[in-house]
Amino acid sequence: MAESSGVTLNENVPVFEYTDVSSKEFHIGAFRDLWLNALNLDVYSYSDTSPEIRDVQLIEEMGIEPETLEELKNMCSVESLRSEHEDTDTVPADPQLSTLKLRKRRQEYKESLTRDHIDRHEAYANELEMICVGKKPEDLGDLVPEGELILTFNVLYPVLFQRFKHVRAYQTLNVLGSQKLTELKDAICCVSDLQVFGEFSNNPDTVPQFISKDHYKSAFFFFNGTFYNDTRFPECRDISATTIDWAKTRDFTEFETAKMEDTCFHDLKMKVGFPYYYTHQGDCEHVVILTDIRLVHQDDCLDKKLYPLITHKHRVVTRKCSVCHTYISRWVTTNDALAPTDPCLFCEQCFRLFHYDDKLNKVGDFLAYAYVDPGTFN
Ligand SMILES: [Zn+2]
Ligand SMILES: [Zn+2]
Repeated sequence: MAESSGVTLNENVPVFEYTDVSSKEFHIGAFRDLWLNALNLDVYSYSDTSPEIRDVQLIEEMGIEPETLEELKNMCSVESLRSEHEDTDTVPADPQLSTLKLRKRRQEYKESLTRDHIDRHEAYANELEMICVGKKPEDLGDLVPEGELILTFNVLYPVLFQRFKHVRAYQTLNVLGSQKLTELKDAICCVSDLQVFGEFSNNPDTVPQFISKDHYKSAFFFFNGTFYNDTRFPECRDISATTIDWAKTRDFTEFETAKMEDTCFHDLKMKVGFPYYYTHQGDCEHVVILTDIRLVHQDDCLDKKLYPLITHKHRVVTRKCSVCHTYISRWVTTNDALAPTDPCLFCEQCFRLFHYDDKLNKVGDFLAYAYVDPGTFN
């Protein structure tokens, strides 16, 4: 981040507003242009300079003789860091010394601790890494252009999710500067989008297949006094209107509205480190923070189709069925005289066995709702 002391800086170079917390507002597209004007093309170009050309450049830049460069290369090489001694970790197969015997035993114990299987969180993280790290597109039309911006956003848990005492990032996503706000919206995965509304204790087989996301598509981002509403579908409503009307009756400066699908990140003025708002499903509110902004590098994922790219997803403990403690819960019951707690979670099988007789008649009095476990989507 640029220093602000003494020097007059272009207003689109980010400077701290609060040290180590957030920057002042700057125009993202203008900041990128400043960068591109200041940098040589070879700094952000994907094509590699050959080692020979790099040597010549270095000789010219440092004003040294070719022999000196060779000497420097030898002295600074990784090889010169190696110890000439043997690898001390290798213990002979049949050691006689007590210290070596101890060491061998310790090593064998350590090896026994290594797991040869990975859990599903690791499997997901590995898979994520495999599909994106250093990925080049098959079709050159999908190549992220040189000089494109990558913005990193942290999406926090819903504000109403009181269970989490500490504020933590639920998802971290990399977005391209030329992408629309709607593309970030579609990439944010929140459990409230997946709820099924209704009470189904009388006929649990009639739980509909559609989820909230299919019905309630309205959402907005609130950046810098402007509500960016999603208006792509006929069923979208301007859910920012309530807040704007409310603010009009108070002493607030007037808020503006814009269309989420017409705005890309290049068009925005933002602050790095500042908490912005994303609201969907009526009142599911998330804090969204822009944490980093940089030019794309040749080692980044260069396939446009994979952006917004999820780079981190917080692991949520899955809530298991309160009867078998084995399967992930699918049902939650309330006013359930038979259940030990209210509300109480059940897996599909336990729910049916516990609440219905052979002829599928309801046993006892209770209300049943479909439950979507936040941990299912780890
Ligand atoms: Zn949400
Ligand atoms: Zn169960």
